[in-house]
Amino acid sequence: MKKAWKIFAIALIAVMAAGISGCAHRHNYKIVEQKDPTCLTDGYRKSKCRECGEELEETLYALGHDYNGSNACTRCDYELEPTAKLDYIATEDGSGYYAAVGSAKAASIVVEAYHLSKPVVGIYAEGFAVPDGENAPETHGAKIVSIEIPDGVETIGERAFYGCANLETVVLPRQSLKTVGDLAFRGCEKLKTVNASRGVEEIGSNAFYGCDALTALPDMPALKTVGEYAFASCEGLERGLLGASVERVGEGVFSDCPVLRSVSLGGAEVISRNAFENCPALEEVAVSSRLKEIASSAFSGCTALKAIRFGGTMAEWKAVKRADDWFLTNLEPGEFVNFYIYCKDGVLDHNGVETPDVPN
Ligand SMILES: [Zn+2]
Ligand SMILES: [Zn+2]
Repeated sequence: MKKAWKIFAIALIAVMAAGISGCAHRHNYKIVEQKDPTCLTDGYRKSKCRECGEELEETLYALGHDYNGSNACTRCDYELEPTAKLDYIATEDGSGYYAAVGSAKAASIVVEAYHLSKPVVGIYAEGFAVPDGENAPETHGAKIVSIEIPDGVETIGERAFYGCANLETVVLPRQSLKTVGDLAFRGCEKLKTVNASRGVEEIGSNAFYGCDALTALPDMPALKTVGEYAFASCEGLERGLLGASVERVGEGVFSDCPVLRSVSLGGAEVISRNAFENCPALEEVAVSSRLKEIASSAFSGCTALKAIRFGGTMAEWKAVKRADDWFLTNLEPGEFVNFYIYCKDGVLDHNGVETPDVPN
């Protein structure tokens, strides 16, 4: 019941937000088609304004399994088959558990949703981590290929999977996960499959640093804060699409990503220092009208940059505070940068001069 109510509330807010139209009336929507989400698949809702016919389509996100006291979903027939000999560490208030590798030996790890009838709420800090140095190959974390983190888990602790160099697949909770700790997946160089996790609000610093096999970011539409170097040095990362709810991205967030081509920074207010430093394939960056500042060296070494797509007007772009060296650093002799700022009402060159003849 609780989850159903939450989804209804989210949908209601979306309808209300969309209700204020540019024309003289408040849209009066009625639902014309709906497909309910299941545990694992998204649904949708199509609505139409009774007065003007304006259409609205919303995604109803996959619910995740509802374990409610056991390791079997109460909504579908899915049942976890938890890995033996994992360690479960009680939370400080004793209301639940954090999971860690313990003496497990399986390459595919499945964490319990409920342990001794209490919920598993997190992955313990360093819970599956591989230490730096010569003991690394003997650590079981180095042999793990996949892990399923059940719905209900809210946090992944600092360094939880640090250095798990053979980890390829991570199943994240669909809605319950809120935070991914600092360095959580740092150095997981084979990690390539991470599903959408629609509740994540915060990703810590260096969380996915050096995840060379990732080509795109998992869908995390509730994300607000992304820590410094969170996606830096990801050799295979091609697209970095962050949602509109993003407010802050840390220093160097996408730096040293050699094949990164397009990024959306969502609603970030500051393009941070060194944000895209040494991203020689970066062509396009989108950012909303909430942008207030571009920090030092943000685009340094971005020699392929063609377009910044800005959600505001030309006047709003000119009001954005920009460090003197926001792009022109690290250029080799003979290299030059020529990109344009596509605003709502026109196109500017990087010096802020209107250039009406530039094609899209
Ligand atoms: Zn209308
Ligand atoms: Zn289910």
